[in-house]
Amino acid sequence: MDRRYKNRGGKVKEFRKVLIANRGEIALRVIRTLKEMGIKSVAVYSEADRNSLHIRMADESICIGPGPSKESYLKMENIISAALSCQADAIHPGYGFLSENAEFSKLCSRHNIVFIGPSPDSIKLLGHKSQAREIASKAGVPVTPGTDGCIKKDFLKEAKKIGFPIMIKAAAGGGGRGIRIVYDENKLLYEVEMAQNEAKAAFGNDEIYFEKFIEQPRHVEIQFIRDYNGKIIAFPERDCSIQRRNQKLIEETPSPVVNPQLRKKLQKAVYNLADSADYHGAGTVEFLLDKNGNFYFMEVNTRLQVEHPITEAITGVDLVKEQILIAQKKGISINQEDVDNFTGHSIEHRINAEDWENNFAPSLGKIEEWIMPGGPGIRIDSHIYNGYEIPFYYDSMIAKLIIWAKDRNSAISRSNRALDEFKIKGIKTTIGAHKKIINSPEFMSGNVDTKFLERFLAEEKNK
Ligand code: ADP
Ligand code: ADP
Ligand code: MG
Repeated sequence: MDRRYKNRGGKVKEFRKVLIANRGEIALRVIRTLKEMGIKSVAVYSEADRNSLHIRMADESICIGPGPSKESYLKMENIISAALSCQADAIHPGYGFLSENAEFSKLCSRHNIVFIGPSPDSIKLLGHKSQAREIASKAGVPVTPGTDGCIKKDFLKEAKKIGFPIMIKAAAGGGGRGIRIVYDENKLLYEVEMAQNEAKAAFGNDEIYFEKFIEQPRHVEIQFIRDYNGKIIAFPERDCSIQRRNQKLIEETPSPVVNPQLRKKLQKAVYNLADSADYHGAGTVEFLLDKNGNFYFMEVNTRLQVEHPITEAITGVDLVKEQILIAQKKGISINQEDVDNFTGHSIEHRINAEDWENNFAPSLGKIEEWIMPGGPGIRIDSHIYNGYEIPFYYDSMIAKLIIWAKDRNSAISRSNRALDEFKIKGIKTTIGAHKKIINSPEFMSGNVDTKFLERFLAEEKNK
């Protein structure tokens, strides 16, 4: 028997009820799969989310505190109490909030609640970005040149060893925060201090490390799932090179520049990395891809990713269902061949409540009109409805528009059609930016890198 398929899973645990420790579109996304699996769902919500759709769609709902995340969606005790009081068998953390919090995962198991995600040890090991680099490197995955772990002194010496430009990164970073590019040594100490302060404020941890800044890279990533028997599936890559402030705005799969040989190499790297960390659950390994086709490990996200639907669109796999099957110790229900034989092309547009013409400033308010596109090849994951008021406490993403079509060009045409059909009044959104981007010659030809959007928007402004 293949080493990777030994049964180390232990006893199967049926879930009767699952609590979703999240809000917004991702809470709805998880509830939908639970319904299809015949599992009862419990929504938790803050006082600011009283009128949220996830409450209405779930079988039960429990208020866990006031609006600020720290007092509700990040308040572990409240969420555990809610799960105990409704006798939930498991908690799905979604993305953001507590999804990559090892302490929360531990707290769940201490209360005999299954955390739908990897073990606390895996989260801790891989969530620390510089430790994860070490693990990747040991597993034979290429990493960018950089410091050996985090550094507290000799900043200039370390930076010179790597060679400018360098990137300063927070070990606990996420969502594009705690990252700074430094082109010349005079700015180094200032930027170090800024990064440390930002990291401290955002993550309560000011550890930083340096890595070489890769010129004009693309962001490609591999979604994988691995179960307790060591069965692992690595999906086709997602290309997330369209970013603003190091955060994704448009994602697509497959990447316009990755061929089957490179795809296999990326997937092999992910197999090795996930095996060496004895990972179980869904995860994503992010890479930078340079102009010459070299790839470098960037980080592992130990959770479901925002852009997971594009992978679902081309493979037909329900990733949330696989997460739940793994957590129940029933094991993954698909095989590598199933996803190798993917069909078509998928693009996701993150529609945010932001004024993209004004540096993507948040745009709050009441939704006066909400008409969504439909028809063939269109999926919308959103918690918004007519009359909904956007609370000011949370993320600005209001919808994910997910397009599927038989090939990339057809997908772009369909994106154009769908973006035109979207009618939103009362707030500003990123729809206009999406229209401009997908009709640019660079995007249409697939020739973009992670700094494309910044350059493009600056040019548009000067027109
Ligand atoms: P992805 O799933 O592609 O990595 P993002 O990087 O945008 O997407 O992050 C996923 C979500 O989690 C976003 O809604 C983001 O605001 C939120 N998020 C990411 N990192 C953090 C963090 N450290 N603390 C709080 N929220 C975070
Ligand atoms: P986060 O945890 O905030 O998601 P990542 O390490 O994934 O941070 O980096 C976010 C983005 O920053 C990447 O998608 C990429 O655009 C850019 N980036 C990160 N590291 C490098 C690097 N070494 N060289 C060039 N760009 C980088
Ligand atoms: Mg990242």
